[in-house]
Amino acid sequence: MAIVGLTGGIGSGKSTVVRQFGELGVHWVDADDVAREVVEPGTPALKAIEAHFGRRILQPDGSLDRAQLRQIVFETPDERTWLERLLHPVIREELIRQLKPDNYHLPYVLLVSPLLLETDQHNLVDHILVVDVPVEVQLERTMARDNNSREQVERIIAAQISREQRCSKADDVINNDRPLEVVERQVRELHDRFMVDFG
Ligand code: ATP
Repeated sequence: MAIVGLTGGIGSGKSTVVRQFGELGVHWVDADDVAREVVEPGTPALKAIEAHFGRRILQPDGSLDRAQLRQIVFETPDERTWLERLLHPVIREELIRQLKPDNYHLPYVLLVSPLLLETDQHNLVDHILVVDVPVEVQLERTMARDNNSREQVERIIAAQISREQRCSKADDVINNDRPLEVVERQVRELHDRFMVDFG
């Protein structure tokens, strides 16, 4: 039984690659989804956020006003620290719960996370799989997908660890600067190997 962490920079193709694993029957947990789930209405984390920032941090329907929270933590580093101290352990606990072996039947499960290597989430995984493309491809694909300016995407890339650092920590790398059918072949080969190695 193994947890394989799948990571890569913005627009590198994590979602695309994880869907290909999914077609082979592989189960995955998405750290971004979990980060949203732990602050849904009624959760202890959302109650703590409301107690700290006041009702202004909620939308009229009681859900978290993410845009406002982003703005506050962007402007006030102390508030960012407070929020990270609250949420990181909660997210980690929920990831551990969802990654429990009873929840999947293959010898391995994927943890998809853009911040696997930037946070302590890498301590949860047995194997690190990086989806890699050149920075220029990352920029072009993200701009095309999100309608963002080059400067916006460059800022996000600059805030993540570098391509070299990320690849140096990888146990395996998927080169996603290729047609999708070639990438699919890499995914199938890795899956076959993981089934043996982690079986
Ligand atoms: P984010 O970190 O922003 O969530 P991501 O790493 O999940 O991004 P994707 O959304 O999978 O990246 O891919 C980024 C864009 O590039 C998407 O529009 C996707 O369709 C496209 N894309 C992914 N892989 C390929 C490929 N091999 N060839 C062409 N386009 C691709």
